[in-house]
Amino acid sequence: MNTKTFRARRLPAHGPLPGWAALLPSRTPTPQLDQAISVDVIIIGAGFAGLAAATRLAQLDPKLSVAVIDADVVGNGASGRNSGFLIDLPHDIASGNFGVDTAAKSRNEIAVARTAIQHYARLAAENGWDKEVFDPSGKYSVAMTDAGAEHLTAYSGKLNALGEPHQLLSAAEIGDVTGTRSFKSGLFTPGAAIVQPAALVRAIADHFQEPIRLFERTPAMSIETSSGGCTVKTPKGEVRAAKVILATNGHAESFGFGSGELLHIFTYASLTEPFDPSALRGHRKWAATPAAPMGTTVRRINGTDGDRILIRSRYTYNPKIEVGAGSIKSASNLHDRKFADRFPDHRDLKMQYRWAGAMALTWNTVPLFGQVEKGIFVACACNGIGGTKSTAAGIATAELIVGHRSQLGEIFKAFDKPQTLPPSPLTGVGARLNLAYREWRAGRE
Ligand SMILES: Cc1cc2nc3c(=O)[nH]c(=O)nc-3n(C[C@H](O)[C@H](O)[C@H](O)COP(=O)(O)OP(=O)(O)OC[C@H]3O[C@@H](n4cnc5c(N)ncnc54)[C@H](O)[C@@H]3O)c2cc1C
Repeated sequence: MNTKTFRARRLPAHGPLPGWAALLPSRTPTPQLDQAISVDVIIIGAGFAGLAAATRLAQLDPKLSVAVIDADVVGNGASGRNSGFLIDLPHDIASGNFGVDTAAKSRNEIAVARTAIQHYARLAAENGWDKEVFDPSGKYSVAMTDAGAEHLTAYSGKLNALGEPHQLLSAAEIGDVTGTRSFKSGLFTPGAAIVQPAALVRAIADHFQEPIRLFERTPAMSIETSSGGCTVKTPKGEVRAAKVILATNGHAESFGFGSGELLHIFTYASLTEPFDPSALRGHRKWAATPAAPMGTTVRRINGTDGDRILIRSRYTYNPKIEVGAGSIKSASNLHDRKFADRFPDHRDLKMQYRWAGAMALTWNTVPLFGQVEKGIFVACACNGIGGTKSTAAGIATAELIVGHRSQLGEIFKAFDKPQTLPPSPLTGVGARLNLAYREWRAGRE
């Protein structure tokens, strides 16, 4: 077999530390890899996908030796900088009389998401995580406008058709939860879980023990395949392995995989400074996604130094997989307006942390999954909800590698391949127009 080399053309640049990591004690990363080692499987990327793949490999075959490497520190990537919703129900459920295909698609999406949530529920139970790390609390959807409220009512009908339990809430009822009268209505779904994302990924990474080894601040610079297996080169060492799992999300493309198939989208978050819990009525901990998919996510968290509100809003298309300070500033201005719109009595509360994070989408919202070269497997393209989708992709990849059959594996096997995007100038113009249009449609939501 000829030797093939896949070089990383670009390494991740995650930008300002997410508020979640800033709230935790500062992390002492595991040592960088500084020698040549041999393992059964190397996993590149220690986000939801990579950590889930390592955990599942250990469950299925505790003797497999596994190296997990990440270019940065665990919790600094997208998996430590998201809003922390592990959502079990798809936002878009086809309306009308469900055709067999549409209902089956929704059920598969739910099965994928619930496999991921159960994965974390099991780890939480086994390791005694508290509810600050993983909370199977369910989540709310909230409407700021009459159109949003109508959407929630229609969504409730679709959940009824699927037999999914939920509760529609009046303006007063959702007001009692959130402490603000700004929402027209709400909808509660009990199956979602809410996490402190940086604490969650750290908890998993810190629990690894031989034969799993984690090397932080260890970028994969290249992957070489030959008849003898694969070699991953890092700045100060190398890993020889029979199998490689690329769990680098959009950075699969940096190695040449998924080229012309991945849309690199950033989204942004702000977290307020702490405030006296008595200053805002309602529950001290709740999490709400918007009625419109491109709208604004809001969370209240309770900490020892007071409570805080998280606002997540704005999407941008960034094919170089990085954003500058200007994009974060522009999103920050939007966040301040969104916050004031929802909490007019608290508009003077300042934001303490602002950050952005990368996501990779495919046109037909399928993962970039499976064996792409002899020995190289990809678990990429989070499609914006990697808390569930990337986790499930990691689990499915581990199962594929050891030959373990499951319902999840069957669902992943049946996914279409990612569609090719239009040629690059068209993709850029199309993606930006699409995002602008959908954000405009989301309006106040
Ligand atoms: C602000 C924000 C809010 C979000 N909210 C939610 C939410 O509430 N729920 C939800 O489900 N999703 C949410 N998302 C999306 C979610 O964070 C991602 O879908 C998810 O983190 C993707 O996980 P992953 O493991 O696929 O990729 P990542 O978390 O991106 O992990 C990939 C890892 O690979 C590493 N890497 C890349 N290249 C290399 C290399 N050459 N060598 C070594 N390591 C490399 C990176 O450092 C990174 O740690 C949000 C995202 C953002 C930014």
